[in-house]
Amino acid sequence: MADYDAIVIGGGIAALTAGLFAARLGRSSLVLEAAVPGGQLISVPVVEDFPGFFNGVSGYELGPNAQMQAMEAGAEFAMAEATALTFLDDAWLVATGDGDHRGRSVIVATGSHARRLGVPGEERLQGRGISHCASCSGPLHRGQVVGVVGGGDSAISEALTLAEHAEQVLVFHRRAVFVAQEVYLRRAREHPKIVFHPDTVVDEVIGDDVVAGVRVRNVASGEATEIPLAGLFVYIGTEPNTA
Ligand SMILES: Cc1cc2nc3c(=O)[nH]c(=O)nc-3n(C[C@H](O)[C@H](O)[C@H](O)COP(=O)(O)OP(=O)(O)OC[C@H]3O[C@@H](n4cnc5c(N)ncnc54)[C@H](O)[C@@H]3O)c2cc1C
Repeated sequence: MADYDAIVIGGGIAALTAGLFAARLGRSSLVLEAAVPGGQLISVPVVEDFPGFFNGVSGYELGPNAQMQAMEAGAEFAMAEATALTFLDDAWLVATGDGDHRGRSVIVATGSHARRLGVPGEERLQGRGISHCASCSGPLHRGQVVGVVGGGDSAISEALTLAEHAEQVLVFHRRAVFVAQEVYLRRAREHPKIVFHPDTVVDEVIGDDVVAGVRVRNVASGEATEIPLAGLFVYIGTEPNTA
């Protein structure tokens, strides 16, 4: 027999919303989070595009608030990684390191993680100057030159966050056209510390123990250049955590 009507795997905003609505509908629900409640949003200093928040809302406010709201409504929350899912005759069995749970239904809301560049030097220097979180690692680069890879919302909004700390932020994007929201792009173009490098791919991250620079190539001219950098922030999309 099932312990819960719904087991929600993941503790990001999607899972917390699922837990909230399951509870509000009178269904018993358990939300399982493996790492950080709030998911990717937790490190976003200001979510500007969430309707209803004129001045934006920080991810580290939105996540805990959503968790509290779901729990107030009756959802249970546990810190545990779901490691296996098995369908039994009358329920789904969700295995975790802390024991098994049975649910009449399972909602998989496990989100995604940052995609890697897949270039030499990246694996060695991950966490040693390569980061995916400007609000976490940005303050370490006060007065230094850092790079951002990507042309979407995450890349440009994170470049703006980095510009609060770094001396200069170089944004490398493989295409001529940036796809971020115009509101971010306008702010970044007008920012004296942010320099755009369109049509530019990163071919290698250079450095022995920590990031010392990147080797980039202009895809239009083919010209390759080495640029000294103290940090590299990569936002080239995400990969599903279910893959
Ligand atoms: C730098 C940056 C800035 C962003 N800015 C904005 C913005 O301004 N506005 C906006 O709308 N969006 C923004 N986003 C996107 C937004 O963060 C994501 O769309 C959103 O967080 C996705 O939520 P999610 O719940 O689907 O997944 P996630 O946030 O990825 O959460 C999934 C959760 O599931 C957990 N999990 C994974 N596997 C398991 C398992 N097996 N068992 C238990 N738990 C598991 C993970 O630990 C994680 O906490 C931004 C993203 C980034 C990276």
